[in-house]
Amino acid sequence: MLELPFSRPMDFEPCVACEAPAEAHWFVFRSDQLLVEMGPLERPSDDLRVRARPAWARLPLQKNHNWLGAARARCLYLGVLGGMQCWAAELPAAAEPPAGMSWQGLRALFTVLDDRHFALAGRALQLLDWDRNHQFCGRCGARTEARKTERVRVCPDCKLSAYPRVAPAVMALIRREKQILLARSPHFPPGMYSALAGFVEPGESLEQCLAREVEEEVGVRICNTRYFASQSWPFPHSLMIAFVCDWVSGEIRPQEGEIEEANWFEVLQLPKLPSKISIARRLIDAVVKETAASIKSGTTDF
Ligand SMILES: [Zn+2]
Repeated sequence: MLELPFSRPMDFEPCVACEAPAEAHWFVFRSDQLLVEMGPLERPSDDLRVRARPAWARLPLQKNHNWLGAARARCLYLGVLGGMQCWAAELPAAAEPPAGMSWQGLRALFTVLDDRHFALAGRALQLLDWDRNHQFCGRCGARTEARKTERVRVCPDCKLSAYPRVAPAVMALIRREKQILLARSPHFPPGMYSALAGFVEPGESLEQCLAREVEEEVGVRICNTRYFASQSWPFPHSLMIAFVCDWVSGEIRPQEGEIEEANWFEVLQLPKLPSKISIARRLIDAVVKETAASIKSGTTDF
């Protein structure tokens, strides 16, 4: 299977402290927008309804570590990618981009920015967020200090450590014969459906979370849970863990406020699906391919 977007690049070595700052790729954020140089806009077809996208986007490459001036709110060393240093920095929310550059949301840069840089931008976004939110101790309120040997901020008074955290979330694609269950959350774009997902609660296993989320959100019961894959998801700091499972019993009953609509879909007649940036699409595509192949060959393993 191809690496999912946001997976750590093979030639990336994470590191916390840098002995000798040198020329580097800079991941500069203003809120959740990344600073990039953009290529000319291109329309993938003559159809004017298709949105134009930049032909490419590039990160700033800088030798001078003071290039952002006094406006820089924070700066973190990320490590080395293919021999080149990588730094993350944050500018205030109203900061103007330097000449020739612009602020872009990460999702819009998928497949436009180099895949490895895109993945590290997701890492940078999460680490900047963690650094911003842990300047003061959550227990005693004293100002925390960064360690040089590991990625942690420690309180000098009460010694509480704040490591960057990820929030595990499970995703379930439920099969019933030749159909899959897809649902709409009220904040989805019009017409789009996806697999069910929810955050793991303290005191529960992934399998228990999956069964609970499915029952709460659509009122059906599942069995035969199989692990599919996982993806780092930096909005803001999740780890998505995806599973395929089979329907056992129950009719669809969408949870008020959470699920706008949920339906069984024939794998050959699917609605609009999420972008290929997310594991949801990878999961749906894999199950659809497998199910369509078994329909074609006439196997009845359902
Ligand atoms: Zn403290």
